[in-house]
Amino acid sequence: MRHLVIILGDQLDRNSAALDGFDSKQDCVWMAEVARESTKVWVHKARIVTFLAGMRHFAEELKKEGLPVEYRRLDDAQNQGDFIVELEATVKRLKPQKLILVEPGEWQVREDFRQAAKRLKVELDEREDRHFMASHADFEKHAKGRKGLRMEFFYREMRTRHGILMEGGKPVGGEWNFDSENRKSFAKAGPPLHAAPRTFPPDEITQEVMRIVEETFPEHPGSLAEFDWPVTAAEAELALEDFIAHRLAEFGEYQDAMWTREPWLFHSRLSAVMNLKLLDPRRVIAAAEKAYHTGRAPLPAVEGFIRQILGWREYVRAIYWRFMPSYGEMNELQAQQPLPKFYWTGETDMNCLHDAIGQTLRYGYAHHIQRLMVTGLFSLLLGVRPQEVHEWYLAVYVDAVEWVELPNTLGMSQHGDGGIMASKPYIASGKYIQRMSNYCAGCRYDPAQSTGPKACPFTTLYWEFLMRHEERLRKNQRMSMQVRNLARLTETEKEAIFNQAESIRAGLA
Ligand code: FAD
Ligand code: SF4
Repeated sequence: MRHLVIILGDQLDRNSAALDGFDSKQDCVWMAEVARESTKVWVHKARIVTFLAGMRHFAEELKKEGLPVEYRRLDDAQNQGDFIVELEATVKRLKPQKLILVEPGEWQVREDFRQAAKRLKVELDEREDRHFMASHADFEKHAKGRKGLRMEFFYREMRTRHGILMEGGKPVGGEWNFDSENRKSFAKAGPPLHAAPRTFPPDEITQEVMRIVEETFPEHPGSLAEFDWPVTAAEAELALEDFIAHRLAEFGEYQDAMWTREPWLFHSRLSAVMNLKLLDPRRVIAAAEKAYHTGRAPLPAVEGFIRQILGWREYVRAIYWRFMPSYGEMNELQAQQPLPKFYWTGETDMNCLHDAIGQTLRYGYAHHIQRLMVTGLFSLLLGVRPQEVHEWYLAVYVDAVEWVELPNTLGMSQHGDGGIMASKPYIASGKYIQRMSNYCAGCRYDPAQSTGPKACPFTTLYWEFLMRHEERLRKNQRMSMQVRNLARLTETEKEAIFNQAESIRAGLA
């Protein structure tokens, strides 16, 4: 055999560089479902199904086109449960002259393939991932000579380079950013009437995967009862059309708002299909831009949405590759608490956490502000070891892949990188959650209280966080207002907050 072309579960891209020059007479695609990918962390059943169903559909499509595919199923009796062991057996059997692989989305996986190729004494042709709009070289050029790396400057450069929402070299509408018009709450009235997102009932292939996952990983977190994620490129395209038609126009205004038992609101639900590479970000951005030019969505919504994909998504990937492998071990705030057990069950009397974790277990989904300002904020304030928080986020979301999950969790949410990703820790008291949702109205705690039986644990831990890290935070200009508020507390109040924080921790141990 000439080439064995390795396609991983998050590389389901028909235009992948891995398939450049593929010759069906001499080459073969290799795909493998292995148990280890679902047990490295305790993976949510819906995430396992999304990946495996995506892989099976993709392999079928390649076969229909006439490409030979060597496919190892999870339920094959001989499956040895590990990529590298499986690959070694295939290479010994088929004796390819060369292995071809697009850069994996996880540093360790890339290492494992490199080491395996060396051991097997077979050439590994590692190709760049064209799915992304900035290459590693592009980002290195951007980073050269800069003291700090900030998403905003990178995003402006990307807008200019790709000519997205640009007019005569300037941003359309005269501004790069419309945040002042975005990020509203729903106030007391709740979300305006909106259509539920289009669903994708599992077909026969997906149903079979669901059966196998229930049998193989019965104890894993999460439920498959409501599984309706898109798992093919055609379904991803329909999901995109549905978002553009029904939710994009309100996306900007309400992107930070939360509401009890409203998991989707005006979000796109496109992260998983993009991360599996079933949907090209250029396609998503072009559809959003067209919606603006045809008057279907206002500029602040379209700019806000494009910023998430062209800006944040590309930027976090660049941060991941620039700072791995040491990034994964960073713990700048010396946080050492274990992750509370209720993260795996949702059983807590804190209403915001109950709702955000509950929907995570039901669907494998929570939107950005639920991840950042509810589950992420609580573990940051509590002082949970960032590596444990990372393992939870990597496990429970259908869109979780390490290149995007790790910088968001360890960096943006837990400030474990000391400010590489975000210039300040994202901290707030329960009052932020009260402002942005209706969670507090149905909660036994009061976000305005920091001590006493009704004190909101977020509010107690917020003040305690400020006191615990006062010296460090004082040096950060963007934190100065929050730190200055500490002066309003008497010594007795501070002591009461410390004691209450300790009893919260003791109660969660
Ligand atoms: P929308 O709200 O509709 O946003 C549109 C798209 O923008 C998303 O599909 C996504 O591709 C992109 N996007 C938005 N915010 C970010 C961001 N901060 N970083 C990168 N891309 C972004 N996203 C993942 O794709 N996988 C993860 O494992 C993941 N883990 C996260 C962990 C934490 C602690 C936090 C705070 C955020 C995480 N995010 C992750 C980013 C973001 O929360 C999700 O991309 C988003 O909620 C997915 O839902 P959606 O497709 O409906 O997004
Ligand atoms: Fe969450 Fe505190 Fe509000 Fe309860 S009162 S919902 S714990 S922020």
